[in-house]
Amino acid sequence: MADVLKKVPVREQDPQVRATNFDEVCLGYNKEEAMEEASRCLNCKNAKCVQGCPVSINIPGFIHEVKEGNFEEAYKVISESSALPAICGRVCPQESQCEGKCIRGIKGEAVSIGKLERFVADWARENGMKPAPAAQKNGKKVAVIGSGPSGLTCAGDLAKLGYDVTIFEALHEAGGVLVYGIPEFRLPKLDVVAKEVENVKALGVKIETNVIIGRSITIDELMEEEGFEAVFIGSGAGLPMFMGIPGETAKGVFSANEYLTRNNLMKAFREDYDTPIVRGKKVAVVGGGNVAMDAARTALRLGAEVHIVYRRSEAELPARAEEVHHAKEEGVIFDLLTNPTEILVNEEDAVAGMKCVRMELGEPDASGRRRPVAIPGSEFVLDVDTVIMSLGTSPNPLISSTTIGLDTNKRKCIIADEETGKTSKDGVYAGGDAVTGAATVILAMGAGKAAAKGIHEFLSNK
Ligand SMILES: Cc1cc2nc3c(=O)[nH]c(=O)nc-3n(C[C@H](O)[C@H](O)[C@H](O)COP(=O)(O)OP(=O)(O)OC[C@H]3O[C@@H](n4cnc5c(N)ncnc54)[C@H](O)[C@@H]3O)c2cc1C
Repeated sequence: MADVLKKVPVREQDPQVRATNFDEVCLGYNKEEAMEEASRCLNCKNAKCVQGCPVSINIPGFIHEVKEGNFEEAYKVISESSALPAICGRVCPQESQCEGKCIRGIKGEAVSIGKLERFVADWARENGMKPAPAAQKNGKKVAVIGSGPSGLTCAGDLAKLGYDVTIFEALHEAGGVLVYGIPEFRLPKLDVVAKEVENVKALGVKIETNVIIGRSITIDELMEEEGFEAVFIGSGAGLPMFMGIPGETAKGVFSANEYLTRNNLMKAFREDYDTPIVRGKKVAVVGGGNVAMDAARTALRLGAEVHIVYRRSEAELPARAEEVHHAKEEGVIFDLLTNPTEILVNEEDAVAGMKCVRMELGEPDASGRRRPVAIPGSEFVLDVDTVIMSLGTSPNPLISSTTIGLDTNKRKCIIADEETGKTSKDGVYAGGDAVTGAATVILAMGAGKAAAKGIHEFLSNK
């Protein structure tokens, strides 16, 4: 008899094997495992897990169907609230959302809601299920800028309500960070992301790639000349930050976004693609968030010895515990309480090491975390030939600077109402990372949903 206090373990690729390939790490549940895990759900009347889900999936409802082996019904329940379940089941930080609120988690381990969602979505895809077809069109045109999770969700919800929706995407492929940022070994692109984008298209949404709003055409032109009655901005926060230390412009210094884009979107890791990438022998990734873990694990798979360089201690690492655990298992080295001060450059203007200083933790700073303070005389050189900066990102100001009357805050984030996505400009709505700064897939989806409602209300009353 299985221990009901514990999650049914999920199968994963062996760490030593997966460190040398880009195949998915987590192999997911099979039918029997999913049904067993579903039977751990207490089916609470006042389901706290639903309150923890930014798109309010009826979690006990779908888990009940899984327990009974009704996977088709389970998919229908999830699809009422989410267009991207195979993605969320893989990348959502469930431990701080739905699973963080699970009553099972008080005495034992929370129900594995994310893995069950993933199982249902994968089962539905493998069995050719599509989300419910779109309602009849109402003839009103809405433009969505960006095809990340916020844009896809907003577009899908509006299409279901009958709007004629076009997504404009700057890159040549739809998906936003899901295709260019999150690596293949956590989120397969063809089998998972492309299929969920197809599901959104099946609702009637058109996607025009290679269109940069603010360059190819502006929001004002879309509304005044192209007949779009409302616009949703879901353009993300793709502008990387750097440290401002000497040597940062040397060859071999990347932003994590560029490094990951070359690999994920432009497939540098594949022999049949000619995208150039530095296959560093010794790589330092500066930063301790999820993006840093993705960059480190990617560099490792390209054959490097990889160091995460982070100025605070393990307790303050902002990355998900699961990501840190996977990175360690695969062999990433953690240089904690360490801060870079200079990138050394050789006569060919390439990286020839990174000067660092050891840190200790002092008094808490404004964020409530203990402030890292340099230890005098502790400087040393880390022997690396590639540096990947993963210090966070902010929204690109292109859209705000080319749209009349669109207000932003001092971090260049678009100011939008949390409930409706309404911005300072009439008919223009925004959500996701473009509004909050870098956050999560599910929060971006929640914002896309809220804005779809806001736009519907606005256009219904127009
Ligand atoms: C490497 C990495 C790993 C991550 N891992 C996780 C994770 O595991 N779990 C999680 O929940 N979150 C994760 N995140 C965060 C998450 O991916 C983002 O919060 C989420 O994708 C934001 O969605 P969005 O729709 O707001 O923007 P994005 O996904 O950034 O999509 C914005 C889209 O808009 C397009 N665009 C931008 N400007 C224009 C323009 N002018 N014209 C037309 N199109 C434009 C962009 O090309 C892009 O496709 C990760 C982020 C990164 C970078």
